[in-house]
Amino acid sequence: MTETVPKRRVKVLLPMPAGNGYDYAVPEGLDLRPGDFVTVPLGPRQVTGVVWPDASDPSVPDEKLKTVVRRFDAPPLAPQLLDFADWAARYYMVPRGAILRMVVRGEQGLSEVKGKTGYRKAPLPQGLRMTPKREAVLAVAGERALSAKELAEAAGVTEGVVRGLADAGALVPVMFDPDPPFTPPNPHLPGRALEEGQAAAAEELRKLIGEGKGTALLDGVTGSGKTEVYLEAVAAALKADAQAQVLVMLPEIALTLPFLKRLEERFGAPPAHWHSDVSSAGRRRVWKRVLDGTCRLVVGARSALFLPWQNLKLIVVDEEHDPAYKQQDGILYHARDMAVAMGARQQFPVVLASATPSLETVLNAEEGRYRRVMLPSRFGPAVMPDVHVCDMRAHPPDQGRWLAGPAVAAINDTLAQKKQVLLYLNRRGYAPVTLCRRCGERMTAPDSDTWLVEHKYTNRLVCHQTGFSMPKPEKCPHCGGEDTLAGCGPGVERVAEEARERWPDARIEIFSSDTVDRPGSAKELLSRMTAGEIDILVATQAAAKGHNFPGLTLVVGVDADLGLSGGDLRAAERTYQVLSQVAGRAGRAADRGSVILQSYQPQHPVAAALAAGSRDDFLQAELFSREEIGMPPFGRLAGLILSAKEEPKLMADARALAQAVPHAEGIEVWGPAPAPFYRLRGVYRQRFLVKGTKRSNLQAFIADWLGTVKPTSAVRRVVDIDPYSF
Ligand code: ADP
Repeated sequence: MTETVPKRRVKVLLPMPAGNGYDYAVPEGLDLRPGDFVTVPLGPRQVTGVVWPDASDPSVPDEKLKTVVRRFDAPPLAPQLLDFADWAARYYMVPRGAILRMVVRGEQGLSEVKGKTGYRKAPLPQGLRMTPKREAVLAVAGERALSAKELAEAAGVTEGVVRGLADAGALVPVMFDPDPPFTPPNPHLPGRALEEGQAAAAEELRKLIGEGKGTALLDGVTGSGKTEVYLEAVAAALKADAQAQVLVMLPEIALTLPFLKRLEERFGAPPAHWHSDVSSAGRRRVWKRVLDGTCRLVVGARSALFLPWQNLKLIVVDEEHDPAYKQQDGILYHARDMAVAMGARQQFPVVLASATPSLETVLNAEEGRYRRVMLPSRFGPAVMPDVHVCDMRAHPPDQGRWLAGPAVAAINDTLAQKKQVLLYLNRRGYAPVTLCRRCGERMTAPDSDTWLVEHKYTNRLVCHQTGFSMPKPEKCPHCGGEDTLAGCGPGVERVAEEARERWPDARIEIFSSDTVDRPGSAKELLSRMTAGEIDILVATQAAAKGHNFPGLTLVVGVDADLGLSGGDLRAAERTYQVLSQVAGRAGRAADRGSVILQSYQPQHPVAAALAAGSRDDFLQAELFSREEIGMPPFGRLAGLILSAKEEPKLMADARALAQAVPHAEGIEVWGPAPAPFYRLRGVYRQRFLVKGTKRSNLQAFIADWLGTVKPTSAVRRVVDIDPYSF
């Protein structure tokens, strides 16, 4: 009898939303380490997975094992990253493969194509037949090799034209690396001269870098130089370790060209950037170079956190309070929280920067878990704007108009002084609700509870949740009334219409996701605003972040109460943050700015705190009221969202779960109640809220609870740990 040698095996985790990894046999002669990228068979397919450090499962017999096909010639994922993926999966109650999927999204960067054929311009061969298309290609071809596709796209011709030129000898083929390494940032360049307060803050942050761990809150009003100061921390981290990698995170819409330019100036090389507008080739390059450790500085939106970091030594989370850090679909993670958790597990420092920190962060700083670093005043001669609250009950605008007397007067003055005005209203379109004046019907999206918003710009009714749109009907679909459908309330288009009527000579533009939907259009509008070529900018939140408009001296919050309504406990905090952001756009240069907030609730603590500039009193009052009821940041919350196409099945699951709530000290379950947007595209949604104390293990409780009621495929259950709204 021949003796069979047991097979060597490894656990391989696949980047898929289900499953926790499978055992595979390792072929003779192949050495595998945890973190290695491998190709393995899965059913009839071959897929890429990652060798995971788990023990393999002895209950799977050798003859059932499939064999690893090959190992990629790429650096393995770092052990601390594998550990973090395990932790994040447990925290958010999702399969580990789902977290791995976020990490390997750029997996095409692993393809072993070492070089690609490109073309460079050659001296013009004699007798070359010239055509306008050929001329166009030769005009864009140059010293640097470009692929046939890139050349063809740049010249607006087909790839055949490019190949024709290569055959004729006018282009020379060369091999080139499609993912060239990044020029390393130079941390030894001098930064700008810092003011005294800024220098002290930078010193504090350098100390943090020296200690190599801990979280700091960099707290300073808009325009105080937080960016300038945290760039000193970035420089210190890059200097301290020649292999260190640093991530600067920003909310997607604050990741602007001027910001990237600023980093380029500071470190002498353009930083790698990572966000949804980066081409797939651009992302592949960043991903690959982060994995091989040569990309050392990345500026990115939230998903940059899950790049395949080798040696991350610092994360800066700018605008840490921004709700955009919470992912709202797929895995419902919060990138700021994950950054702090990653820093704590891997022992590297994290800097959170904000002019209006979240209550979570404020409490962590107060209780000494975070170090607080303050920047109390604006840089240089700029001072904080004057904020006035305009009581709309005392100054009602005319019928169908939205600007009250005091705002109109202030705009007149500002325009007379050749300065710029920002009218802020966080509502896209012309009118938020479309209603029939005869029968009262409110137009909603099909199979949804969401309202249709009139857009005059495109002359359509649009649902902002589902993306559904239709031409505006001539008749009411309910009662058939002709010309009875009317938009109610203001959107940016309507406010712009009013402004055009009042100031026909002013240059007026709208900035919202509808008007800046083409790549480049936002940039163009912002640079015209910066250059003073726009007099009045009517804008949603899209323009509120991170921009410096030197000629802007007046900001009007057209409806400053918006956001305070609704039952959400975070509404006041959120409204305060947004309005201070917007207000912070005014008077960033030498001229003092002013802000008018139009409000029907001028006595509301948000309006009062903004007018008095008493941010800290407001935060204390908010903290106090959250503490009274044990809500975050004092307690913990999780949401459980059930959704189904069939309402009876949804209700049956909700009832069964409601009856099965286990008893646990300090944990309460509320609901079920209809989730916000109860019906969306024909799917119904119910929500439970689970509330515990800071010490409660909500994940264990929820796992226990959901385990008692068998799920059906008809009802989807999604757990939202630390939901943003509550
Ligand atoms: P924040 O991030 O706090 O809003 P920034 O870092 O963007 O502030 O600074 C606001 C403006 O002041 C920017 O235009 C910045 O270039 C300028 N600034 C801040 N500090 C300095 C400094 N020490 N030297 C020169 N310019 C500075």
